[in-house]
Amino acid sequence: MFDKRRIITIANQKGGVGKTTTAINLATALAAIGQRVLIVDLDPQGNASTGLGIDRRNRKISSYDILVGEASVGGAAVETAVPNLSIVPSTMDLLGFEMEISQASDRAFRLKKALVSEGAEKFDYILLDCPPSFNLLTMNAMAAADSVLVPLQCEFFALEGLSQLLETVDQVRRTVNPKLDIQGIVLTMFDARNNLAQQVVNDVRTYLGEKVYQTLIPRNVRVSEAPSYGKPAILYDLKCAGSQAYLQLASEVIQRERMRKVAA
Ligand code: ADP
Ligand code: MG
Repeated sequence: MFDKRRIITIANQKGGVGKTTTAINLATALAAIGQRVLIVDLDPQGNASTGLGIDRRNRKISSYDILVGEASVGGAAVETAVPNLSIVPSTMDLLGFEMEISQASDRAFRLKKALVSEGAEKFDYILLDCPPSFNLLTMNAMAAADSVLVPLQCEFFALEGLSQLLETVDQVRRTVNPKLDIQGIVLTMFDARNNLAQQVVNDVRTYLGEKVYQTLIPRNVRVSEAPSYGKPAILYDLKCAGSQAYLQLASEVIQRERMRKVAA
């Protein structure tokens, strides 16, 4: 029942690199072409939930509840203003998860288990929006996912955190999830007027080759405004360069998934 759907975790231990923006807009773009998409907000900050206009009053059942086994995906997912896109919102309860669950032998597999609960079978794509650290929540995401999508900000220190991230992916493969793949690396907040940004793009492409998507997400003020209206950029301003880039990224993601299927 679950063999066709894809679970993609959006991870980078740095904050502010575009994880949540990518989760929201990639999910919207996939939903727009008819895929049934779920975001699971795994960051206690709840930026994905807020950015999709989910009021705090509508977060009675959250990602915490599915992690501790007190709710199913069907019970926790709420619909968004985007047709075909639902979200399991987060609350500050997530802050307690690590402490409460750290002694349990299945502590890294709570999300994996939740993602086969009632209601989870409805989705073609599940995107996991991770917090900015390698904690137990990120570990649960990596254990549950088919692949990792890494947003990298086009700035001087971009590559510095990346080797640590790739090491973590290796470690996850050796321990909790041997089949974890790198979906790809997406360069975010690119500013063409900045020579350094172009240098970073060149360096990342040299170092990582094919893993880097062709699509560059530009720095775009419309993208940064959209969350304050509780909307994905793609709904807020479809024509802006940022929205167009996210639509293009979605087609690259789908193409890679097709190639994986052919290879499998
Ligand atoms: P993370 O989830 O990795 O912490 P966010 O997606 O929340 O990162 O992005 C950090 C900040 O940068 C947010 O204020 C967001 O609106 C802004 N931002 C993200 N992508 C872009 C972009 N392409 N252009 C302009 N601002 C962006
Ligand atoms: Mg975030």
